[in-house]
Amino acid sequence: MGDITLNIDGMPVTVPAGTTVLAAAQKLGIAIPVLCHHPKLSVAGACRVCIVEIGGQPVTSCTTRVENGMEVTTASPYIEGLRRDIIDLILSDHPYDCMVCERAGECELQELAYKYQIRTPVFHGERRIYPARDGNPFVERDMEKCILCGRCVKVCDEVQGVGAIDYAYKGFATKICPPFERDLSCEFCGQCIAVCPTGALVSKPSLGKGRQRDIRRVETVCPYCGCGCNLTLHVSKNEVIRASSQRATINEGWLCAKGRFGFSFINSPDRLKTPLIRKNGALVEASWEEAFTYSAHQLRRIRDLEGPDAIAGLASARCTNEENYLFQKFMRAAIGTNNVDHCARY
Ligand code: SF4
Ligand code: SF4
Ligand code: SF4
Repeated sequence: MGDITLNIDGMPVTVPAGTTVLAAAQKLGIAIPVLCHHPKLSVAGACRVCIVEIGGQPVTSCTTRVENGMEVTTASPYIEGLRRDIIDLILSDHPYDCMVCERAGECELQELAYKYQIRTPVFHGERRIYPARDGNPFVERDMEKCILCGRCVKVCDEVQGVGAIDYAYKGFATKICPPFERDLSCEFCGQCIAVCPTGALVSKPSLGKGRQRDIRRVETVCPYCGCGCNLTLHVSKNEVIRASSQRATINEGWLCAKGRFGFSFINSPDRLKTPLIRKNGALVEASWEEAFTYSAHQLRRIRDLEGPDAIAGLASARCTNEENYLFQKFMRAAIGTNNVDHCARY
């Protein structure tokens, strides 16, 4: 196969054969706008926004492979004019909902409309009105804002391996939906929300809870299992309203349903905040000092009376490795038993 050398915007670049023009341009630090392309998904070539000029012809850079001696222009007046028209066409049947859209402020379509200053589209497509809303508890689906880029279909199939959604119908009636237009019933990983470039798919538990400019982002690690996925918590008014993950992380931005949607416990009024000690059959709030003293006394009493193997310790996948290490050390060295297990073993 070997390497290929081409010129992009007058700059030479050498890349392996089979590389797309888009990837070669990215190697040079040239940002070509895209809407359907996603680096972790197979090529779609659906939105046409990434067109570049090769030999005087407009071609989509995400589907075109590099060739030796190729001369590529990414942003001539001709290409920028076509790109503006393509975005204009995408917006032609799009609702003017930016004022109330959950995605506003991080919407890739809104950013391109701003970049190309498309206030009123020249083209006027017929608005697709889908009044029915999906009753699933996690993914808010507003197909009027869908630009049919296909990222959600691909991520559900290629990354999650579920295939819960696909294109249905034809022509202007085309839309993304679950089989037979039933409510979404899937793994609720939310990967489709993560890759959707518009407000067509957003997190339902987060609806109406805060605008982008008010949201503070806190990087942390998911507490649910030992995979240790990187989480970005979106915090508004001291409340976690959403969880996402960045692409440049160990988990490549992908999460499971627990990591993405299981954060309501943080602000739950039912959450235990103090230790409880059972007294006369009822659980009574206690201080940490009381709880530690009580536990130490009971452990010592049982060990002295029945021997260390009368005691067993069950650790948790929600603890860190360091905490679990300390726990087994405590059981073996302080209590004197090897009766140690872990809930992740079931
Ligand atoms: S999806 Fe984007 S462009 Fe469409 S209404 Fe929402 S913010 Fe605006
Ligand atoms: S939430 Fe996950 S499983 Fe469900 S449709 Fe989206 S990507 Fe597919
Ligand atoms: S729902 Fe979002 S990701 Fe899926 S095709 Fe529409 S715009 Fe693209």
